[in-house]
Amino acid sequence: LVSRKKKSEDTIININGELIGQGKPSFVFGPCAVESYEQVAAVAASIQAKGEKLIRGGAYKPRTSPYDFQGLGLEGLKILKRVSEEYGLAVITEIVTPSHLEEALDYIDVIQIGARNMQNFELLKAAGATNKPVLLKRGLAATIDEFIHAAEYIMSKGNENIILCERGIRTYEKATRNTLDISAVPILKQETHLPVMVDVTHSTGRRDLLLPCAKAAIAIGADGVMAEVHPDPSVALSDSQQQMDIPTFDAFYETLQKFMKNYEVH
Ligand code: PEP
Ligand code: MN
Repeated sequence: LVSRKKKSEDTIININGELIGQGKPSFVFGPCAVESYEQVAAVAASIQAKGEKLIRGGAYKPRTSPYDFQGLGLEGLKILKRVSEEYGLAVITEIVTPSHLEEALDYIDVIQIGARNMQNFELLKAAGATNKPVLLKRGLAATIDEFIHAAEYIMSKGNENIILCERGIRTYEKATRNTLDISAVPILKQETHLPVMVDVTHSTGRRDLLLPCAKAAIAIGADGVMAEVHPDPSVALSDSQQQMDIPTFDAFYETLQKFMKNYEVH
């Protein structure tokens, strides 16, 4: 169902008026984790000021260590909902288990399925049975074929609104947190009709690489870029090393806008 052979036109997903996959890159910014209303609102104000329509933030955080901050859960979803109403932004947030899905649907606009859950088939099927768009991230060590099959699980349940997100894969390279598989973007665009985004934060794990990798993503034809922003990354409860503060975010965004003007992408 997700194959280009099945449908030759690009799938375009309308989220809060933002058309993902229509040719011009879309942006998803927001903190790694929801920590407080004030923290999310500060980032939301800066997203809104740029005329952007989407915000991300994790309420359920799939952490490597059980002793690390696990997210605010339902309270986090409530914060996201409040901020989304106050700032006119659509919420993208990760859901980690089918048992959270139903209650979460009232608070969110897009279901994110994280890298660690890309092959949680029960979660894929449950998300496929909802009417919310799904942002599906590539697994830490998933092949492109496995990634496409994960999207197929979602679509097989009737949900056609799927955004694929390349977020880096595990290789022997230690200079970055993961290795951004940039060529996955045109491969996924050729093989499927779905929009493809690139998460520059989790793929690199390095603030200094966010901008060059975002340029690469846009130049290679990605439908969007995801990056994490926190009002004070030094005190962030997760991903402190790689989130942008607001002045850095402003400069990042401005440079990308100029870059896009000079490029007749897609
Ligand atoms: C995230 O986007 O919050 C996240 C945890 O990313 P990933 O699943 O790609 O590691
Ligand atoms: Mn993060």
